[in-house]
Formats: sequence, structure tokens, C-alpha cells
Amino acid sequence: MIPHNKPFLGEEEKKIAQNVISSGFISQGLEVSAFENELCHFFGLPDGHAAVVSSGSSALYLALWSLDGKDKKVGLPVYSCASLRNATGMIGARTVFLDCDDQGPNLNVKHAQQRDVEILMAPSMFGIPIELPSQRKFKVIEDLAQSLGAKVDGKPIGLRGDIGICSFYATKMITSGGQGGAVISRDKKLIDKIKDYREFDCRDDNKLRFNFQMTDLQAAIGRVQLKKLPAFINQREKWFQIYSEIGLNLIDSKLKNHTSVRYRIVHRCKNPKKNNKCIS
Ligand SMILES: *Cc1c(COP(=O)(O)O)cnc(C)c1O
Repeated sequence: MIPHNKPFLGEEEKKIAQNVISSGFISQGLEVSAFENELCHFFGLPDGHAAVVSSGSSALYLALWSLDGKDKKVGLPVYSCASLRNATGMIGARTVFLDCDDQGPNLNVKHAQQRDVEILMAPSMFGIPIELPSQRKFKVIEDLAQSLGAKVDGKPIGLRGDIGICSFYATKMITSGGQGGAVISRDKKLIDKIKDYREFDCRDDNKLRFNFQMTDLQAAIGRVQLKKLPAFINQREKWFQIYSEIGLNLIDSKLKNHTSVRYRIVHRCKNPKKNNKCIS
């Protein structure tokens, strides 16, 4: 069998997992806050602007919740991950499905403008940064689940909207041991609000909260993987070059200041239904 997605976990991850187990402290603690600070550093944010959570789906739900998404018109692309639709459904938003661009896999933001959405969920599919206008009437949740490390103007994407989300599921750019996610924002108030929601235990008011926590065991693995991300990106780039050199017509951003990570290497076929000869 050819594995479809092989998680790249090595000796360092094994060792760190053992250390956490030996420490006797495995739930949300110091590893989680260290992972959060390292993510802030990665995105060029001050400490305190990231919260790690149990999955990318939880991160999407929490991002919508922090922007008061209930009953709002939330736009999402027709082609993405089921978790976008699930999160809008869970929050009780009005889902607006938007068409993708004919040039690539990403949503065309023009459609969000035409449909008067109030919040847009904007994933950068396959590692190709979505084009986002800086002038817009709606809030934006940037979804980096497939594009951690992709850049616009030399800076990692994720902060072009009001809030960004990451997934560290087993098949993504990096994994925090199988499941995991994060929210990031320039607006620390949103992150503090989400942390308060996540810290559900031993509270003395009557607000409703929910356990969306990541464990120290997961965070420790995530920290090792985050350090390896540049090497993962380079390796994926090498594969992309190999496919490109043999003449495949590969999909990439048309914009010079947009740098993709090769989460998936997608090639364009003239007649995908008629033949499978895709080398042009
Ligand atoms: C995987 C994915 C998610 C969800 O992340 P999970 O960690 O699997 O819940 C969200 N958005 C996109 C675009 C994804 O690919």
C-alpha cells in the first residue's frame, strides 16, 4: 500500500513525549504556553497573541464565536474542508456558499463582496495564499490549515484578517501528535476572550465555557514540529520542482509577492475526464 499521508515524526518527538510523560504533568500547562509563545514568534507577534486548542475545527468554531458569529452571514468557499460548514452550523450562523476562482482552488473574494457577507472564512487551499483585498466591508477568518508557512510580501500569512486559524492534524504541514489547532490575532482581546472560554474549570461565575484544550503531550510534539517546519517546506519545494521539471502544468499563485508552501502539488489537465495524460 502507498501511504497517502505519512506523518513525519522522529526520535526528537519520541524523546520529548517521553519527557512529558515522565514529568507527571500531561494536561494543559507549561508546554502549551511555550508552544503558544513560539507560534507568536513565528508570526512576528508579541507573546499572548496565540491560543492553542484541540483541533483546527475547534479553532474555527472559537474564531467565529469570538467574532459573535451567531446569526451572522458567514461566507465560505464551496470547495474547502467540511469543518468550515460544521463550524458555521455549530455557531448558528447563516452559511453563504461562495464560488472559487476559475484560476485556482481558492475562493474569489469578489463573490463575498457581492453577497454582503459579514464574516468570511478564507482558507488558502493546497498551500497557495488566497488573494485578500486590504479594503473590505466584512471580517475575515484566515484559515491556514493547509498553508502554514506560506508568505505574502515575505511574511507568513495568517494575520491579514481579524483572526487566523491553524490545524495540526496528522496530515497537515506540521502535527501536534495527531490532532491540534491554534488561533492567532493582532487583536489580543480576541485571544484573551478565547482563552477564557477554553479555561472552563474551577470558575466562579456562571458563564458557559467549553473544554477545547490541547494537552502538554501534544504541545511538546507541536513545538518540535514547528522547529522542523522550514525543513519540511524545503523538502516539499524540492518535490514540486521535480514535478515541474518533467513538464507537469502545476497550479500556483500568479502573484509574485505570494509564496506558496507545497502542501499539495496540483496539476492541471486539459481533459481530465477524457484521458489521464497530463504532461503538456
Ligand atoms: C483540515 C482543515 C481544517 C480542520 O482542521 P482539523 O484540525 O482537522 O479539525 C480546517 N480548514 C481546512 C482548510 C482544512 O484543510
